[in-house]
Amino acid sequence: MMASQPMIGNLGGQPILILPEGTLRSQGKDAQKANIAAAKAIADAVRTTLGPKGMDKMLVDSIGDIVITNDGVTILQEMEIEHPAAKMMVEVAKTQNEEVGDGTTTSVIISGELLKKAEELLEQDIHPTVITRGFKIAKEEALKILQEISMPVTLEDKESLEKIAITSMSGKSVERASPFLAKLVVDAVNVVAEKENGKVNIDVNNIKREKKHGASSEETELIRGIVIDKEVVHPAMPKNIKEAKIALVDVALEIKEPETDAEIRITSPEQMQAFLEQEHTMLKDMVEKVAVTGANVLICQKGIDDLAQHYLAKRGVLATRRVKKSDMEALSKATGGRIVTSLEDLSADDLGYAKLVEEKKIAGESMTFIRDCKDPKAVTILVRGSTDHVVDEVDRSIEDAIGAVSSAVEVGRIVAGAGAPESEVAMRLREYAEKFSGREQLAIRAFADALEVIPRSLAENAGIDPIDVLVGLRAAHDKGGVTFGVDVFNGQVSDALARGVIEPLKVKTLAIKSAAEAAEMILRIDDVISAGKLSRGGMPPGGMGGMPGAEGME
Ligand code: ADP
Ligand code: MG
Repeated sequence: MMASQPMIGNLGGQPILILPEGTLRSQGKDAQKANIAAAKAIADAVRTTLGPKGMDKMLVDSIGDIVITNDGVTILQEMEIEHPAAKMMVEVAKTQNEEVGDGTTTSVIISGELLKKAEELLEQDIHPTVITRGFKIAKEEALKILQEISMPVTLEDKESLEKIAITSMSGKSVERASPFLAKLVVDAVNVVAEKENGKVNIDVNNIKREKKHGASSEETELIRGIVIDKEVVHPAMPKNIKEAKIALVDVALEIKEPETDAEIRITSPEQMQAFLEQEHTMLKDMVEKVAVTGANVLICQKGIDDLAQHYLAKRGVLATRRVKKSDMEALSKATGGRIVTSLEDLSADDLGYAKLVEEKKIAGESMTFIRDCKDPKAVTILVRGSTDHVVDEVDRSIEDAIGAVSSAVEVGRIVAGAGAPESEVAMRLREYAEKFSGREQLAIRAFADALEVIPRSLAENAGIDPIDVLVGLRAAHDKGGVTFGVDVFNGQVSDALARGVIEPLKVKTLAIKSAAEAAEMILRIDDVISAGKLSRGGMPPGGMGGMPGAEGME
C-alpha cells in the first residue's frame, strides 16, 4: 500500500528529511504485495483469451470507439494502465510481440503465475533473492529442455509451416478462413525469405499489409509486388500496363516556386508568353527524360505538375504521385528498380519490372497494384474483411501468423502446442529440482508448477475440467508422450503434434524467458518511491530527481 512516509536520515540525533514531504512510498512486503497483485491482475485480464476457445475482449475508449480482439498485446496496449509493476507486464507482451509476433498472452500469463507462486514462497518466509535464484536456474534449464524436445523445420516444409500459421490464428475470429490465410502467409514468407550461407533471414517488414473493408476475409489476396493507396494521377493515362518498366523517382516533376523574396517582374504580354513557354518546355523535358529510358510507369515520391501529367499521358505513361517513402523502398525491393533523386540520373538500368501495373477500385477507393514482379523481395497482402473491426482483427491474425512462420523458419525448430511443451518442461524441471536442496528446490518446483498454467488455462477456457486435464497430461508425459497436450475441441488429452498443433520453438523460449525475467525484476523490488520526473540513465543535472528546483522536471 502506498503511504505518505518521508524518507528520514539521521545526523547526530537530528532527523533530516531526504525526500520532500508527501512523497509516496511503500516498502518491503507491502511493496512486494502491491506489485505482485498488480502483475497478477494483468495476467488475469488476458487469461480468458488464451487458446482456440479463448474469449474476445471489447475495449471501449472515452469517446466510445471500440476494438474487439483476442490478441494479448493489443488488449494490454489499449488498456489504460497506471501501476508501475503492471506496466512492466505490458512491456513483456510488447517485447514478445516485437520479437516474434506471437505468444504474447502466454508470456504474460506465465509471468503472473510465477509471481503468484513466488508470493506463496514469500509467505513461507523464503527470501526474494532465493526465489529469484531458483527461478533463474529453472529458466535456464527450461530453455535447455525446450531445445531438446524441439524438432527441425525448413522453408520448404510448407505443410508444417501452414500448420504453424493455423495454430497461431486459432481462436481469432478469422478461424474459418485460417487454412486459406495460412497458405497465403506461408507463400508470402517464402517469397521474401533470403538465404545466406545456409541461414534463412526474413525481414517481416518486406511483407506489407494494406487493409480494406468491404469484402470477406477469404478475399484477402497476396500480391507478388506492391499495392499503393494512390490513384493514377491523370484521367487520360492508361489504367493498366502489361510488361511494365517502372521508374521510381524521388524528385518532383514540377517547376520550383521562386523563393519568397525573389520576384519575377513581367512587364509585357510577350514576356508572360515567353515565361510560360519556358515552363512548358522544362516540364516537357522532364517527361522526356523519363520516357526516353523506356519507362511506361512512373512512381513519384513527390508531386507531378498538371502539365507534366498531360505530357506523361500523351507518352502513354501511367503515373502516381506523392507515394510514401516506405512504399518507394518496398517498390524498389519488389521490382528491382532503383530510386533516383535526379531525373538526369535516370537510365534504363534503373527501371524496375512488373508483369502488370493496374489501377483498381477497392471499397470505393482507387489503388494501384504493381503485380507479378520478377523474384520480388517485398510483397503485399491486401487484407480484407467485411467491416473495419473485422479487417483489423484479420490483420492482427495475419501479423501473428507471419511472425510465427518466420520465426519457425529462421530458428529452424518447432515444438508441439496445446500445452504440451509446458507440461513436458514442468515434468522434467521437477526431476531436475531434486538435485538442489531445500529452498532453491522449492523455487524450481514452483517454476515448474507455474508453467502448467498454460494447459490449465487452455482447458478452463474450453470448459474442460482443468484437474482432469493436468492429471491426464502428467500421466501421458510420464509415459513419454512428449507432444501430448489439451484437445480443446474434444475435451481430452491427445497428441498435439498428430493433430497438427505446432508452434515455433522461439515463441516458447522467448515467452518463458521474458516471463521469468519480468517476474524476477518485480520480485527484486522492495521499495516503491514516487519520483519526480525520472531521467533515464542517471541524475538530472542539478541534483536528485524529484527535488524541488531540480532541472529536468516538467
Ligand atoms: P498467445 O498470445 O500466447 O499466442 P493464443 O490465444 O494465440 O495466445 O493461444 C496460444 C495457445 O493456444 C498456445 O499454447 C497454443 O499451443 C494453443 N493452441 C492453438 N491452437 C490450438 C488447438 N487447436 N488446440 C489446442 N491448443 C491450441
Ligand atoms: Mg497466438
